Amino acid sequence: MTTLRHDWNRAELRALFDLPFNDLLFQAQTVHRQHFDPNAVQVSTLLSIKTGACPEDCKYCSQSGHYDTGLDKEKLLEIEKVVQEAQAAKDKGASRFCMGAAWRSPRDKDMPYVLEMVKRVKGLGLETCMTLGMLAPEQAQALGEAGLDYYNHNLDTSPEYYGKIITTRSYNDRLNTLANVRDAGIKVCSGGIIGMGEKREDRIGLLMELANLPAHPDSVPINMLVKIAGTPLGDVEDLEPFEFVRTIAVARILMPKSFVRLSAGREKMNEQLQALCFFAGANSIFYGEKLLTTSNPETHADRLLFEKLGMNALQVETTVADSLPVAKKALWKDAMAV
Ligand code: SF4
Repeated sequence: MTTLRHDWNRAELRALFDLPFNDLLFQAQTVHRQHFDPNAVQVSTLLSIKTGACPEDCKYCSQSGHYDTGLDKEKLLEIEKVVQEAQAAKDKGASRFCMGAAWRSPRDKDMPYVLEMVKRVKGLGLETCMTLGMLAPEQAQALGEAGLDYYNHNLDTSPEYYGKIITTRSYNDRLNTLANVRDAGIKVCSGGIIGMGEKREDRIGLLMELANLPAHPDSVPINMLVKIAGTPLGDVEDLEPFEFVRTIAVARILMPKSFVRLSAGREKMNEQLQALCFFAGANSIFYGEKLLTTSNPETHADRLLFEKLGMNALQVETTVADSLPVAKKALWKDAMAV
């Protein structure tokens, strides 16, 4: 059984990335099978609860107020609307419901609403996840007390490349939010975006930061950049897809017990590439037609792909920090037939 390490160095990561493709995938799949059912994928649904006009300047993001992307802005959604969407997601087989708001951080007057959303969505029997920007310690505590299961806050890229992507919040700000979330007993979801013009050394830097956190994030989204017209990264050069698969595989080897999520950018991937990502150790996806504001493969296409690959959607019942989820599997087709 692999031991969890938090002392990975750059040379080790370079050596993994440099392995022949088949050797790397074999190693990743071997690690994966020690900790997870290789044919089960955790499925989440993501809802944007407040869209656009974000004061941050993340150069990839359609929601940043710094760029003209033609996005329709929306205020914070009504609680009842969020609960309705969560119920619909549950009916379609999602086990976790993620709510995202385009904020630098939640304001005091927003907190009662988001806390109520957590309680109501959790009351439906779903795991809850939020991404609301930076959190102060007391905000993280309040969310934890409301029953929030996961908080998403990505590191995005390596510390070295970060300044080329975001200038309005620092890498340390992000690390502090992750520490506040951990201290509040909320599970951490943190990953990054690949294909933003960064070098392999930056992908190595990102994964090394994540793996060397005091605790591995419970969930590690690896996003492929979705190029949005109007953003500074709207026409950045495409990343070689095998390099994306390698990044997933190295993430799996470094963080053996974490759910590695194939996240934004999946719509542009054909079935074969997605299958390779699953083989490399990805075991979580988002489904639904929208991934915040970028489109996501139709749930129908996901269902067909799962059937072709003989894979199941994982229904997570309870999770305990630092241990594997106590999980109940349901066949995707059964879940979708509700
Ligand atoms: S990624 Fe998040 S913080 Fe950055 S601009 Fe978009 S919504 Fe705002």
